[in-house]
Amino acid sequence: MIAIVLLGPPGAGKGTVAEVLAEKGYTHVSTGQLLREQIQQGTQLGLEAKKLMDQGAFVPDDVVVGMIRSLLEEANPEQKFLFDGFPRTLSQAEKLDELLESLNGTLGEVILLECPDHVVVERLSGRRTCEKCGTIYHTKYNPPKTEGICNLDGAPLLQRPDDKEETIKNRLEVYETQTAPLVSYYQSHGLIHSIDATQPIQNVRKAVLEKLG
Ligand code: ADP
Ligand code: AMP
Repeated sequence: MIAIVLLGPPGAGKGTVAEVLAEKGYTHVSTGQLLREQIQQGTQLGLEAKKLMDQGAFVPDDVVVGMIRSLLEEANPEQKFLFDGFPRTLSQAEKLDELLESLNGTLGEVILLECPDHVVVERLSGRRTCEKCGTIYHTKYNPPKTEGICNLDGAPLLQRPDDKEETIKNRLEVYETQTAPLVSYYQSHGLIHSIDATQPIQNVRKAVLEKLG
């Protein structure tokens, strides 16, 4: 079992890169998407997560680690995982190391998508997501063929409630305090590979694919 981590601020393009890697045999795991599915299903976990997510705060570590634990414990030994939005705190990173060790898995690479705040703000403000399949668009940088409609399944495109300007600001602060320390954590393990995520989508995808061979 191998895990690759996509690290970077909200809006850096983790989900956008993950879409192509999913075509290359990686199992894409977005903890944000898993939580949004819980919200859609109206579960207790979803109800509690929504309050935090709408403010741009994190869901508690044990909830997120619990979701990842179940996934990894049910995986087959050959599976290649691509984590997008996990880990997001040092405690989550340590739990991931423990989990992988207990399952004879390896953390192969941590790809850091570097992107300054002003770029992130513009990307998040224009992000639209298919309400059915989760495909990610941007009104300017990756528009759908028909405005407001997903190219793949014709479902409506929605703006996420946490992509409002006030919430974006809060999410960037939370990233700086809680997630940015993971860069030195993974640097000290010799696992970080940085990519300039301000390039156009195709170039970022190509750079990541080249890195992962
Ligand atoms: P993350 O998963 O890191 O939060 P997303 O992949 O959802 O980020 O991308 C955020 C927004 O930016 C989306 O609207 C996406 O279409 C757009 N986007 C992603 N990568 C790029 C890029 N390299 N150039 C321009 N826009 C991008
Ligand atoms: P994302 O789809 O990755 O932008 O995540 C959306 C939101 O889900 C985040 O702002 C958090 O509230 C929550 N979330 C996603 N992943 C995690 C995580 N690993 N730890 C804590 N909260 C998370």
